[in-house]
Amino acid sequence: METVTVQKYNLDEEQEKKEIVRHYRALLRALKPRLKKGDRELVRTAFEMAAEAHRDMRRKSGEPYILHPLAVAQITVEEIGLGVRSAICALLHDTVEDTEVTLEDVEREFGSEIAHIVDGLTKISTVIDSNTSTMQAENFKKILLTLADDPRVILIKLADRLHNMRTLDSMRRESQLKISSETVFIYAPLAHRLGLYTIKSELEDLAMKYTEQDKYREIARRLKETKRERTRYINEFIKPIKEVLQEEGLTFEIFGRPKSIHSIWNKIKTKGVQFEEVYDLFAIRIILDSAADKEKADCWKVYSIITDFYHPSPERTRDWLSNPKSNGYEALHVTVMGPNGKWVEVQIRSKRMNDYAEKGVAAHWRYKEGNSTVQESKFEQWFSQIREILNSPDSNTLDFLADFKSNLFTEEIYVYTPKGDLKILPVGSTALDFAYSIHSAVGNKCIGAKVNYKLVPLSHKLRSGDQVEIITSNKQKPSEDWLNIVLTAKAKSKIKDALKEEKRKVAMDGKEILERKLEHIKASPSQHNINELVQFYKQPSPLDLYYQIAVKNIDLKELKSFHVLGDKLEPPKPVKAPEPAVEEALHKQPSKKDAELIIFGESSDKIAYKLANCCRPIPGDDVFGFITASEGLKIHRTNCPNAAQLLAHYGHRVVKTKWVKNREISFLTGLRIVGLDDVGVIHKITNIISGELRINIAGLTIESKEGLFEGLIKVFVHDKDELEELVDRLKGLDGIQSISRLED
Ligand code: MN
Repeated sequence: METVTVQKYNLDEEQEKKEIVRHYRALLRALKPRLKKGDRELVRTAFEMAAEAHRDMRRKSGEPYILHPLAVAQITVEEIGLGVRSAICALLHDTVEDTEVTLEDVEREFGSEIAHIVDGLTKISTVIDSNTSTMQAENFKKILLTLADDPRVILIKLADRLHNMRTLDSMRRESQLKISSETVFIYAPLAHRLGLYTIKSELEDLAMKYTEQDKYREIARRLKETKRERTRYINEFIKPIKEVLQEEGLTFEIFGRPKSIHSIWNKIKTKGVQFEEVYDLFAIRIILDSAADKEKADCWKVYSIITDFYHPSPERTRDWLSNPKSNGYEALHVTVMGPNGKWVEVQIRSKRMNDYAEKGVAAHWRYKEGNSTVQESKFEQWFSQIREILNSPDSNTLDFLADFKSNLFTEEIYVYTPKGDLKILPVGSTALDFAYSIHSAVGNKCIGAKVNYKLVPLSHKLRSGDQVEIITSNKQKPSEDWLNIVLTAKAKSKIKDALKEEKRKVAMDGKEILERKLEHIKASPSQHNINELVQFYKQPSPLDLYYQIAVKNIDLKELKSFHVLGDKLEPPKPVKAPEPAVEEALHKQPSKKDAELIIFGESSDKIAYKLANCCRPIPGDDVFGFITASEGLKIHRTNCPNAAQLLAHYGHRVVKTKWVKNREISFLTGLRIVGLDDVGVIHKITNIISGELRINIAGLTIESKEGLFEGLIKVFVHDKDELEELVDRLKGLDGIQSISRLED
């Protein structure tokens, strides 16, 4: 997508009206093939209701507000593939929350089905979008419940988010960061899981545009520069295949697609490679127009033709024809050796499958009549999994969210029970995950498994095609370290339940011990007294107190120093030292001289802060301030690995920050250098750093292995410019392969 330059909004009333009507007509055109009798009037009523309700409202850009619901409806229909009813809901999605229109009004006009969805949209929006201090993970749980209820709610919400992301330019910087982070944290994984791959990568690209501006622009620019070269290669690759496919009488489309900016950046980051090594990554896509009963055979035919020309890599062939992913994705992927010794991924699918891949869960409704019972049951499975996790009494929502999110993104393996029933698990799942996927009672008693008739431990990682038989014992009990063995959210939450139950049992012994001791000093085991002790021993809850007593971490020796008044306990001395309030952190006087480096918000107040250890920002980095509960203000880079989570969950604690020029103070940062192990290379590196650039080195470790060396260098620099100059100079040395900044 292209960057849109923000223009000052300057339409007069007449032009504005025309603009609104133009968008409304475009929506009708998109809906046309699906309009049944009476639908046109309904859409019109919804449009008029929304237009009237939002009449006096404007977007941050200055545009009339109604253009937003119109755009959301358009996305819902054209890009997600939903129909008339969803378009109506999209038109109304902000009315109940922001205007005089009530849910009763909607129900009266459009009936209960639409009112139900609009209600869901309103609820989601009040829980997620509002800038309140409520724990947002809790809200995420609610969203998923709605999802399990009617997936259209979440699909329209995705359309809403997509439009907001596309028009984020006019928002304030803090809002841009918060919204972008939330998008990466919650919405992109959801889009991925729902099979909306195109929307997922657009959301990620848009978010990156705000969270990592420089990198985004750089990669976009370089992609543009290298476009011709890429196109030439793709054409060369396609040419021979195309000819044979035509000779075979197949109807098809074939084209190349570059990777998204975000996915290129991900590769650069995770693999520690340079742009040059990944920019030409792209996938060739072949979409076949085949009859329903021929599509699978045709895909394999294409596979055979391609591999006649190019050699396939057997480990990188993915058959999602026979075993579709749980979100419904079907295709055949093969990676082959193309011209000039380059690996090229080819994705082969039918038109119907392609529709699934692009419209995801939404396409599901349209093909419902067809022979897609397999698909349907897969979705059902997925929704029921979600419901199951949600209904488990585990109270720690943040953990839940993290587990769930990691489950959203991972690829899957297919494993079988001894009877041949298929189980789909995320890649990396263990025998223990498998046991819990059967039943929590099986998981809790699991002592090992037989994988393909061979005995393996609980922690054994499963692979696609494995047949797994779980071995149980009645003596077995889940333990804390099981949490490190399992990967699935379901197994984790079941193990936590079991541990909690176990803890409760142990705690009962502790409770008895405590009650006896209280009796001894003539104090009652009243709520008040228990609470005094919980506070005194700094335990999170009475249960924890009992438990610590039972396992003898607390011996109650101090009980003697308590006073007993009546039957009430009085602690020996005040135990609660008041914690510094969050707001106080903002008014603290700067304590060190480096406190002068940052200005917050619009004012030029200088405030005490700490630089976060996780990303070690230096002046010039894009940063934000985050108010912590106990350590005051911390400065993180906007591309810090923890940033997305912080911004998404605690947006209200974020403070805008920027750097002030100051050449007196140096900051510690690190670089990782990989290159060919050559005589004198270390000398050359240190010579550039301390000799030519006069930068202080704080530490240097070099390891070499099989002709390569990896160096970790810690240096003191003044700002990002200086660091970049250093990196450029080091890159200029012979044999240096990559240089990246250390995160920790
Ligand atoms: Mn909206």
